[in-house]
Amino acid sequence: MLEIRDFAVNYGKHEALQGVSLAMGEAEIVVMLGANGAGKSTLLKAIAGIVPARPGSSLSFSGQSLIGLPAHQVLEKGVALVPEGRGVFPDLSVAENLSLGAYARRARSGERENLERVFQLFPRLAERRRQVVGTMSGGEQQMVAIGRALMSAPRLLMLDEPSLGLAPVLVEELFGVLPAVRRSGVGLLIVEQNVRLSLSIADRGYLIEAGQIVGEGAALHLANDPAVQQAFLGATQ
Ligand code: ATP
Repeated sequence: MLEIRDFAVNYGKHEALQGVSLAMGEAEIVVMLGANGAGKSTLLKAIAGIVPARPGSSLSFSGQSLIGLPAHQVLEKGVALVPEGRGVFPDLSVAENLSLGAYARRARSGERENLERVFQLFPRLAERRRQVVGTMSGGEQQMVAIGRALMSAPRLLMLDEPSLGLAPVLVEELFGVLPAVRRSGVGLLIVEQNVRLSLSIADRGYLIEAGQIVGEGAALHLANDPAVQQAFLGATQ
């Protein structure tokens, strides 16, 4: 479904990504692991069309190139990003935030069904549909952000550090919902510091270091790999 080859991104002279290649199948859950500054957020932003890839990079989704497309057109192709920090509108209600996610042309006709699906995944949002988002907990706001992205009817949903700043119980709740998102036919590409939890729901993972992919494997294999354990699991859990 997603295929990236020889992918590179520069910020001025700084090479944030070089020679990155990765592939994802339909409705797969893939996690990107790497230290701070490794280039994980840059990868998601470049896929989403927010930062440009260097000439010669190859990025295709369902057989169509996404190179050079602006962010709103990438969204129309079925690729949605929930950025780090969520980007919800704090002064608007849950329902208003969700309906803003349905502005994509691909999602307008199915808005009612998509809203039902979001409320099934996150019953708490249904209960609080009139609540102003700025008054909600961090975990609830993350649910709003994910719900809003799902309102665009994506086939690939990218999450940048969804557990950041959340209480452990909410992190568990959030990650408990993600397999159901996948069962509804949506692939997930997740950048996450909570390595153990993200590998527990993922099919595969990639290791990224200083802008390059340095390893990949089945999630179960990575979770038991001594090098991964030493680099991430000991330090972060
Ligand atoms: P973190 O886990 O800390 O978010 P990350 O792996 O997501 O890290 P990125 O945010 O992708 O890393 O950053 C990769 C590198 O690119 C870092 O060295 C960062 O300082 C640099 N960088 C990121 N955004 C910009 C920018 N807008 N301008 C210049 N340099 C940037």
